[in-house]
Amino acid sequence: MLVLGLGLSIALLSGCAVNPVTGDEELMFFSPDKDVELGRKYAPLVEKELGGRISEEGIQSYVNQIGQRIAGFCQRPDLSYHFGVIEEGGANALALPGGYIYITRDLLKEFKTEAQLASVLSHEIGHVVARDTLAAMSQQIGMTAIMLAAQAGGSSDLASGTRFLHAVLGLQYSREDEKEADLAGLSYMTQAGYDPNGMVETMQILEKLQTYRPVEFFSTHPNPESRIAYLQDRIAMRYASLGGLKKGEEEYRQKVLAPLNERKRRFNEQPPEPGRSETSEPGRQN
Ligand SMILES: [Zn+2]
Repeated sequence: MLVLGLGLSIALLSGCAVNPVTGDEELMFFSPDKDVELGRKYAPLVEKELGGRISEEGIQSYVNQIGQRIAGFCQRPDLSYHFGVIEEGGANALALPGGYIYITRDLLKEFKTEAQLASVLSHEIGHVVARDTLAAMSQQIGMTAIMLAAQAGGSSDLASGTRFLHAVLGLQYSREDEKEADLAGLSYMTQAGYDPNGMVETMQILEKLQTYRPVEFFSTHPNPESRIAYLQDRIAMRYASLGGLKKGEEEYRQKVLAPLNERKRRFNEQPPEPGRSETSEPGRQN
């Protein structure tokens, strides 16, 4: 459906494709339209595995709207991007091949501004553009397994599907891939009008989470300090003179944090998290 405009990449498809983020040549046995097919096929399974999409449609559409705006500035704007918020998976975000991008409710809860959210979506778009997911998976489970997963039709092919699913969920990107996704993402979000410092803030937030739960952002090597350092360098070099960029604290509070708090109030059986003072806790005595 979306494959228009991918002629250039398709033409290179005899085994080698150019990574549009870096210009590096990478061995790619997959056509870009196969990425989309694979993503579309496994997106529902990934959603199911991670507890399904959150039911707050307002949050879904807010996240999707921001993602779509940013995707318009990446090197593959012709792809059809899908952004969704899922229930489980710790504080995390992930990208399937072909433009299916997810962020978890737990990660949304950690942010304070739209620019911070934008930075995660931008980073994941960077992985999609560079086709990092397939490249990393081909190293981890091999192209044969990916081919099998792509061909798998029904329940008889459950094994290859399951293998693919687990590989996606436990994917480790290389340090280079993460850095490229960071810097590409920084460019996309800034072009979309967001304050690039939002990505630095995101790294600082995630740095604190890293101690007790791994997140995709920290699944591999670049340590948070060095990521913050190269992000700050890049911001100083390229974006420091830009003014009027959006942080979006109030929007984020209204569109994301308020509905999440509302849900928490509604399902108030859980004791309050230590260190967080909720306003009145109906039905709870303490
Ligand atoms: Zn990443």
